[in-house]
Amino acid sequence: MTIQQQDASALIDPAALQQARIDLAATFRWFARINMHESVANHFSLAVSADGSRFLMNPRGRHFSRIKASDLVLLDARDATTMSRPDAPDPTAWYIHGRLHALLPQARCVMHLHPKYATALAALEDSSMPPIDQNTMRFYQRIASDDAFGGMALSDEEGDRLARCLGDKSVLLMGNHGVMTVGATVAESFDTMYYFERACETLLTAYATGKKLRIVADNVAKVTATQWDDYKQLSFDHLDEVKAILDKEEPDYRM
Ligand SMILES: [Zn+2]
Repeated sequence: MTIQQQDASALIDPAALQQARIDLAATFRWFARINMHESVANHFSLAVSADGSRFLMNPRGRHFSRIKASDLVLLDARDATTMSRPDAPDPTAWYIHGRLHALLPQARCVMHLHPKYATALAALEDSSMPPIDQNTMRFYQRIASDDAFGGMALSDEEGDRLARCLGDKSVLLMGNHGVMTVGATVAESFDTMYYFERACETLLTAYATGKKLRIVADNVAKVTATQWDDYKQLSFDHLDEVKAILDKEEPDYRM
């Protein structure tokens, strides 16, 4: 192993690691509050080394509403003994997240959920998202689609396949399954997940009326999507406010 490789797999500094744990724990708590969790399933990960080989993940079988910063399991994608550890993660999570962090440098934080509206959209033959409001326009031509659901993922090949499907996008609508979002930070992946579910909720509520959609012109949708990029600070403010609420109402998430 060269010195460069050693550096790339080194953990971020202890203060940054602790902040990473707190930020990620806050997002589990919040998604449980707003009912985007499902039983004790689903998984988020956060790369904590430059090369993404080391990452934090939620412990297997723990309800999102009880997750604390210290509960997040520190994993190493290069460690073949991981699945025989007493605190081994969910096997499908292990096979997917390690490969995504290895193959997609922009995917520092990977979130996977089966929230109600995104999953309903993933269950439609036409899972596209026409631009009908500001939130759907945020995702205009920015959603990757996985149209090859083949059962629960239990191999490295599945992680490689999902990485290819996702490419440089930040949302992967997983047909017949759910959704995955990625971001350079916890705040960005969190905010993308939140807004994607909101966009799906609006779209499916509009579909449910049976009336014709009011779809905007291509140029309007494109401009609006670009305008969202200028509001990037919103993602960080969103997570900061979520943590402020949790600090008051359930501060043990930081422990
Ligand atoms: Zn899933």
